[in-house]
Amino acid sequence: MARARGSPPHIHKFGGASLSDAAGIAHAVKIVVAHRPAPQVVVVSAMSGVTDTLLDCAARASRGDAAQLRTAAKALRARHGEAARALVPRGARLDELVGIIDAAFAELEQLAGGLGILREITPRTIDYLVARGERLSAQLFAAALEANGCPSAYVDATDVVQTDGTFGNASPDLGGTVRSARRVLGPVLAPVVPGFLGAGPDGQVATLGRGGSDLTATLLARVLGAREVSLWKDVPGLLTADPRIVPDARVVPQVHLREAAELAYYGAKVLHPRSLVPVIKQNVAIRIRPFADPASLGTEISRRRTLEQYPVKALSAIPRQALLTVTGSGMLGVPGIAARTFAAVHHEGISVSLITQASSEHSICFSVPEESAQRARRSLEETFQREIARQEIDGIEARTGLATLVVVGLGMAETPGIAARVFSALAEAGINVIATAQGSSELNLSLVVDGKEAPRAQRVVHAAFQLSKIGGGAVAHPERSDVVLLGFGQIGRALAPMIAKVKREALTLHIVGLIDSSGLVFDADGFSPRRLAALGAAKAKGAPLAKAAGGRRASAAEAIAFVARHALTNPILVDVTADDTTETLTTALGAGMHVVLANKRPVTTDKRKYDALRAAAQTHGRRLLLEATVGAGLPIIDTYQKLVESGDRVAKIEGCPSGTLGYLFGELGRGAAFSAALTGAIAKGYPEPDPRDDLSGMDVARKALILGRLLGFTGELEDIAVESLVPDGAERLGLDRFLASLEQFDATWAKRVAAARARGGVLRYRAIVTRKSIRVGLVVVEASSPMASLNGTDNQFIFTTMRYKKNPLVITGPGAGPAVTAGGILNDVLKLAGA
Ligand code: ADP
Ligand code: ASP
Ligand code: MG
Repeated sequence: MARARGSPPHIHKFGGASLSDAAGIAHAVKIVVAHRPAPQVVVVSAMSGVTDTLLDCAARASRGDAAQLRTAAKALRARHGEAARALVPRGARLDELVGIIDAAFAELEQLAGGLGILREITPRTIDYLVARGERLSAQLFAAALEANGCPSAYVDATDVVQTDGTFGNASPDLGGTVRSARRVLGPVLAPVVPGFLGAGPDGQVATLGRGGSDLTATLLARVLGAREVSLWKDVPGLLTADPRIVPDARVVPQVHLREAAELAYYGAKVLHPRSLVPVIKQNVAIRIRPFADPASLGTEISRRRTLEQYPVKALSAIPRQALLTVTGSGMLGVPGIAARTFAAVHHEGISVSLITQASSEHSICFSVPEESAQRARRSLEETFQREIARQEIDGIEARTGLATLVVVGLGMAETPGIAARVFSALAEAGINVIATAQGSSELNLSLVVDGKEAPRAQRVVHAAFQLSKIGGGAVAHPERSDVVLLGFGQIGRALAPMIAKVKREALTLHIVGLIDSSGLVFDADGFSPRRLAALGAAKAKGAPLAKAAGGRRASAAEAIAFVARHALTNPILVDVTADDTTETLTTALGAGMHVVLANKRPVTTDKRKYDALRAAAQTHGRRLLLEATVGAGLPIIDTYQKLVESGDRVAKIEGCPSGTLGYLFGELGRGAAFSAALTGAIAKGYPEPDPRDDLSGMDVARKALILGRLLGFTGELEDIAVESLVPDGAERLGLDRFLASLEQFDATWAKRVAAARARGGVLRYRAIVTRKSIRVGLVVVEASSPMASLNGTDNQFIFTTMRYKKNPLVITGPGAGPAVTAGGILNDVLKLAGA
């Protein structure tokens, strides 16, 4: 009590992304400890992914699938238990904590059983079930604080936060919360309160809606009279746009409370929509701060007005919207149509986010969430039954698949021409605006566009207002990139030390994760070169990563999900496997990772998948780079792009894009036996894991297909004429048997080489790629041609273009082997890291 009046506490809220494991919680504890002895209140979210898992399980259990809930309960129990044991030393306190965790999940399993029988779940039960996520992370946090010598106590949210009891989306009751918070939190030093939860009128736990921990923090700030709230998140601050969509989003140093509230309400995922309501008139500074960099102040949200040269400060978009239109001549001048329209929608409990009425009063148009569109339409049809019958109203139209783009800034009202700038930027980009509205506060401008165009629309408007220069253009991402290697074979092991060694001014690359088919090793702080060397050596000896120190078993999808739960900086996933990883890559792009490929499979299996992958990259504003898939370290795709950017047109790319086959034919030309030449190539690490992928021409065909798709070839791998060099009957042998039988093919090959020589030529394996067709096969080339001069693993690519017609552009150089391939990948990684 004394404290609430005397010196108000600093409220710290830690988001789920920050609390992904014991290391995350330990880091958060350090932040709180560093703020001592000032009074503090800690609010925590559930550990990352826990709320999603619990909600998913609840839904499944209600459909009768209780098994899933049981499995999840086991995994969650282990995850919390593991964190407890890492954070709290052995003893009575740890035993008590593990007891609480075990009881929470034992009860969950019991509940699962019940739900499996009833096949029904109420919002009340869902809230009760989900609440354990926050309750357990708060228990863990309080115990960890104490273990670090900071007296603390867990305080349950239902003893503090009073609400109206609307399960799943409760609203706080300010008066009730003032009384209980002062009474309960006053006497406690550093209380830890679970976020997202409150008590309904009957004392039952009710949640505040997704992301509700933000609201808990600001509510407590209001009732305790706090001057400072730190919301610790996985971003460097409030950004000019969602960084997953607009890659050059920047930190806004300061925004007005009203601007931030507007953004949160209109879809910016960084804050709960109602989180600023309790403090909108208060003299409080709320900071969105980067968990990864506690010294940074992030973004201040307060009542100050700064950055007035930026009439627009940020953008967001609400996805999955529908537009309902009521049209009819009978609406003209008839009073009350608009009122009845909104009453009908309101009656269904549907919230309307944008309204426009043409001045002719011929139509009323408004947007609602897509999933409510049909319900809204039916309700309107009922309301206007008579008018429709009399043809005064033509009908109710619902158009789905839309998004609302929201442009926010206090300066919009005072600066003329803002709307015009938005419209012309969109028009120049060929993006059609379907409807628009300006909020009466003139704090925001909302525009409805096709959902598929929304990401591009955000990037275009972001650029039109030069938002990447705000705050001096301080980059959203410090010059650091976290790299995850998918695959830790020969190329991966050559690449890892190269990445670890990169030393550039203002750029650090960290390898934070290694994934193989057994599982992963992960360290959010990045592996040291020594650790990487040790991991590489063990893996080379055949030890799977799951067995390495700190390793864990996981499928690739689980590994990416695990990695994505951490607050990584500008994350880059490098695929150096040879599998079809399309799904994993799509997940990674969705989680905000850039992707670099050395693996050809995901971009050559099927055109639809390839297009989907590129669309996923586009949607999430991430990049997909694949230079190393074609010429290893040679700049082939880069050259193609530079030609096209400068206005040239590439008609044909011809070449020998196989280092392995190049080496093989070089050796054969020098008189080596086929078996010896191939064994030599394998020893040097040139071929794919199964050398028949090279001999069959499939590897060349895949490279040709990648080039073909650049030129606009629309076919599939099957549409390419490929001549295989795998001897008849050898396709079906096991790899070992095949390798043991090589000598029996020596004589045939010697004959082929001799025949070519008799004609004055040499053998080469060549691809010819145009927009229309791709051909891949063995040819005899004249000894005087550039192709004949290829040496060792040299690749060659010959570009015939509008400008390079008579004298084509030729790129020649080593095109296989772990070192050069890793070099090509590194170039792509550096591009993404902004070097
Ligand atoms: P918490 O861990 O506190 O729950 P959230 O996940 O709710 O944090 O919010 C942070 C996320 O919000 C970021 O990872 C980011 O992708 C997303 N985001 C969307 N719009 C913005 C924006 N304008 N500024 C910052 N982050 C944004
Ligand atoms: N754990 C809840 C959620 O995921 C609340 C929060 O994190 O703020 O929505
Ligand atoms: Mg959140």
